[in-house]
Amino acid sequence: METTLRGVGVSHGVAIGEVRHMGTAVLEPPAKQIPAEEAEREQQRARQAVDAVAADLTARGNLAGGEAQAVLEAQALMAQDPELMADVDRRVAVGSSAERAVYDAFAAYRELLANAGEYLAGRVADLDDVRNRIVARLLGVPMPGVPDSDEPYVLVARDLAPADTALLDPTLVLGFVTEEGGPTSHSAILARALGVPAVVALPGAGEIAEGTLIAVDGSSGEIFVNPTEERRAALEAAAAERKAALAAATGPGATADGHKVPLLANVGGPADVPAAVKAGAEGVGLFRTEFLFLDDSKNAPSEEKQVEAYRQVLEAFPEGRVVVRVLDAGADKPLEFLTPGDEPNPALGVRGLRTLLDHPEVLRTQLTALAKAAEGLPVHLEVMAPMVADRADAKAFADACREAGLQAKYGAMVEIPSAALRARSVLREVEFLSLGTNDLAQYTFAADRQVGAVSRLQDPWQPALLDLVALSAEAARAEGKSCGVCGEAASDPLLACVLTGLGVTSLSMGAASIPYVRAQLAKFTLAQCERAAAAARAADSADEARSAAQAVLSGE
Ligand code: PEP
Ligand code: MG
Repeated sequence: METTLRGVGVSHGVAIGEVRHMGTAVLEPPAKQIPAEEAEREQQRARQAVDAVAADLTARGNLAGGEAQAVLEAQALMAQDPELMADVDRRVAVGSSAERAVYDAFAAYRELLANAGEYLAGRVADLDDVRNRIVARLLGVPMPGVPDSDEPYVLVARDLAPADTALLDPTLVLGFVTEEGGPTSHSAILARALGVPAVVALPGAGEIAEGTLIAVDGSSGEIFVNPTEERRAALEAAAAERKAALAAATGPGATADGHKVPLLANVGGPADVPAAVKAGAEGVGLFRTEFLFLDDSKNAPSEEKQVEAYRQVLEAFPEGRVVVRVLDAGADKPLEFLTPGDEPNPALGVRGLRTLLDHPEVLRTQLTALAKAAEGLPVHLEVMAPMVADRADAKAFADACREAGLQAKYGAMVEIPSAALRARSVLREVEFLSLGTNDLAQYTFAADRQVGAVSRLQDPWQPALLDLVALSAEAARAEGKSCGVCGEAASDPLLACVLTGLGVTSLSMGAASIPYVRAQLAKFTLAQCERAAAAARAADSADEARSAAQAVLSGE
């Protein structure tokens, strides 16, 4: 019998196939005592296993490229953390086997993270994955992770570690479903980058039996377990229709009546550029520069290294717009040499622009590198600061840009409700706004973006979030300036129409979403988008807002 489950759709498309579960066995090695004379050999085994796992993660990263690479390299660094290794050595010295010592040392580290604050949720899956890999290697058992299968399947997991997502083979993995995670979690961002349909935050997904036929609708967030023939046919027809619409829509983003809404790409570095160009991105709306900083946890990358990476991205869009976000360190993206380790609430602490104002030399180097990278190129360079709270923040950033002699437009990201509420005042100092709806939702609803349990509040359809988007867009219009969206909200085709109706002037998203958004936008006039936006804002919940907008646009 068909049953329907509902999670959060985070990556478009339909997948129909049999369930395969992720190998999640927790490998707990027995706590046997080893003789003292074996300690040195065990320490060596542990070190070899750690090095091999780190090398494997780095190799997977090289294979995957882009944002996935940065995440995997961060995991490789985690594996080789000197303090963790010292703890493993200590445990072996008092009688633990290599595998038990690794297991216990990681458990202690996990505990530390648990008490260190809120970025834990996103890190724990990564840490557990590293531990399981090292222990599996030491025990000589198969690596946990993506199942071995020659037949295509739908992957079901509690959560997906970046190492696994990066290796998903889109020809075998039809789609995936996770119990944890939210619309802005690592897994969701990586799924979109891969172009694999995905639904997250679906408690109970783990109980669907191996081999069960399911249909995943990555747009609506629905899962149909044992779908009927009719259901399958309807989903397949809808998917085929969508594919045809995608192929038919090309060129710059615009509504049916020709109102232009440039469609830009979010990139993490040069490796993401080819996909953006292929999807017809009209430029880059968010270059997340922090991925450049993940290689070395102790130092900022040199000016030369930065110039090289920036130039590669700028050259790819000779006539287009490239919006570079200066370093957004802290909270979910901590950097050892910049982020205070003792904050009770890192997301409410020193992060984003606050970090850079505390470390002006890091900001100066970045701005100087950008100025050098853009030299002689016709590109329209724009720079923006993350986590701008008020006019004083905006002024401090604009002053730093001027001092560095940067020939570019300066902008502020709207990620904190105060910046949306006082957008006109922020716009006295900068030339454009860019709405980071991921963080804006986090701070508007006091809901950690990494915690699956509060994903309802992370839903960008929440009318309160739409109100803040409208306030920012209205302020920009009044000042004759632009206001784009670069958070994940822009990648939802229906929401993209609503954002356009709210007055947003450009949409930036992962490259894989661009064709979907382009096709949807081309179906409606600006006036229809405005009516859908008004209907969504009049609703009392995210679900009602979505249905109200849908009803307006489908002429119900
Ligand atoms: C956002 O917060 O919406 C955003 C685009 O920035 P990030 O996801 O990198 O924090
Ligand atoms: Mg942000």
